[in-house]
Amino acid sequence: MRHWPTLPETAMIDDLLKQAPERVESMIDQHEGFAETAMHYMPEHVELETLREAIQCCQACDLHRHATQPVFGEGPVDARIVLVGEQPGDQEDRQGRPFVGPAGKLLDQALQRAGIRRDAVYVTNVVKHFKFVEKTGVRGKRRLHQKPNAREVYACRPWLEAELALIQPQLIVCLGATAAQSLFGRDFQISKRRGQFVATDWCERTIATWHPAAILRMPDRAKKAEMEQQLVDDLVRANDAPH
Ligand code: SF4
Repeated sequence: MRHWPTLPETAMIDDLLKQAPERVESMIDQHEGFAETAMHYMPEHVELETLREAIQCCQACDLHRHATQPVFGEGPVDARIVLVGEQPGDQEDRQGRPFVGPAGKLLDQALQRAGIRRDAVYVTNVVKHFKFVEKTGVRGKRRLHQKPNAREVYACRPWLEAELALIQPQLIVCLGATAAQSLFGRDFQISKRRGQFVATDWCERTIATWHPAAILRMPDRAKKAEMEQQLVDDLVRANDAPH
């Protein structure tokens, strides 16, 4: 009682009490923001085409604000294999198609080496809008990839689940850690469990391998070649799996 009146914080108590209801409202809002997912934007009749149309309106997370457009999956609805990446990159964002930039070119080569036709597989991403940070350097403005956070992956998940439910693939290949952790759980480590078949809710055989972008970023040439070969080997393993 003796010290309270001398404490500077005491002067704030009245104001804090007055603001309390507003603060509680804002905390509830933020919590609800986390709970919002793309479910809110699902079409009534779910087909690849209606999903592709509906996703244009998705605002379930903030990534739609700066990206050019959502990039939905591409490929036949009866594809045996679905490839799942992390998110569209710079070129994908501009063209509105998955895996068409440098990482896509590397994926195309790997698919070819594995004897898989790109137009026979369905290619998609865990997150459908490009997340980036703009940097100005000697070569002008560049948009640098940023890893999507748990909130964005969670918000976007209904699109991927709808794609997998429609296609019902015999095999899912997760390209990179974000896709693998989204399907196998947060503890999944690609460096330890790459190339192993695991049953998931969507498919009897799900396998994780390197993301082509991770291979492109690898500075060590020998390691890069090794990762590229492992990507091809994993694709061959997936393709050769019994039907
Ligand atoms: Fe919707 Fe996914 Fe885009 Fe977020 S990233 S706005 S959830 S489509």
